Amino acid sequence: MSTPDFSNGTLAVRGGEERPLALGAAQVPIFQSAAFAYPDIEAWQAAALGNAAGDIYSRNSNPTVTVFEEKVRLLERAEAATSFASGMAAISNTLFTLLRPGDRAVSVTDTYGGTSKLFLKFLPNMDIKVDLVDTGDHAGLDAAIAQGCKVVYLETPTNPTLKIIDLRRAIVAAKRVGATTIVDNTFATPINQLPISLGADLVVHSATKFLGGHDDAMGGILAGRSELVSKVHHYREINGACLSAMSAYLLLRGLKTIELRVARQNATALSMARYLRAHPAVESVFYPGLETHRDHSIAAMQMTGFGGVLSFAVKGNVDASTRFLNALRLAQRAASLGSVNTLAGPPRTTSHVECSVEERAKLGIPESLVRYSCGIENFDDLRADVDQALKHV
Ligand SMILES: *Cc1c(COP(=O)(O)O)cnc(C)c1O
Repeated sequence: MSTPDFSNGTLAVRGGEERPLALGAAQVPIFQSAAFAYPDIEAWQAAALGNAAGDIYSRNSNPTVTVFEEKVRLLERAEAATSFASGMAAISNTLFTLLRPGDRAVSVTDTYGGTSKLFLKFLPNMDIKVDLVDTGDHAGLDAAIAQGCKVVYLETPTNPTLKIIDLRRAIVAAKRVGATTIVDNTFATPINQLPISLGADLVVHSATKFLGGHDDAMGGILAGRSELVSKVHHYREINGACLSAMSAYLLLRGLKTIELRVARQNATALSMARYLRAHPAVESVFYPGLETHRDHSIAAMQMTGFGGVLSFAVKGNVDASTRFLNALRLAQRAASLGSVNTLAGPPRTTSHVECSVEERAKLGIPESLVRYSCGIENFDDLRADVDQALKHV
């Protein structure tokens, strides 16, 4: 079971579960214990030195958490994985481990709001230079990478306007200068996109979103090359941003159904995007699955599904989008995404709350934009909900 011979639907259910199924438990128990006791000091020391398997203290490792890491490792086709208290903990621990003062990193302007704050503020504070290229400027990205850099950080599709980065092309450019490529695969999920199979060194996730899928637990994960993952893991052991056993359990329970959920969410998002594109109260729709999307052909090459999130600008100003959102009866007005519940919100209170009006304008995010994360409810009910709410625009 620990070899990735199975497809993702099977790995999501059974992958990585061998070790903790003690006493005949058919499902992974919650190891709600900070420390682990040993029969004698010799056995304890053997585990502490890594000469024998065993958990010592849950900031370093915990059996429930280890199953979660192993399952995502298998799903992402990675050599190793380590988990975190949140997606931002995964991203910041990874960047702070891999970058040193004087290093240069290249990314794009449309990364998740919190990630973008790291690039614009916290990394420059440590004398790390970060160059952000306009998302979707494929040649510009090549050129910025070719100047030489330590890290290339990519996210695709992007939040909230669903732009696409050509992963194969960016990874080739990064390899040419010996840079480490990190891909935030939160929006795509390993069901729709496998960056490591396309040559990326590392993948990060906000497990809070599609991996857990139920909006009931926070978590983050890093998966990829062993040598890099273990460096970041050692930093996390000291930094302390570890995933709790209870959250790992909830995320594991959610992960079991990821293939079913994402297939449904892909289908609903595509139908919703087509419906909205034809609606007279809608100005524009952003979804990589639409043939009219600028980078649809790149998305179709690197993704096997286009994801459960879309965004659209309603006709009129901010007030029109506020009236629309307030009128929704089924979709919840909430900041997250990737849940079994449909969630909707404006980027100014969700992904890009950390940005000013000017910064959002520079990123091409219309103030009347609505981000809509499809859940697994019945599509006709969701469409009827959107339809009645659009009457208030
Ligand atoms: C939510 C999100 C994050 C941050 O994850 P948290 O679990 O909220 O810390 C990072 N990247 C993307 C694309 C996200 O959607």
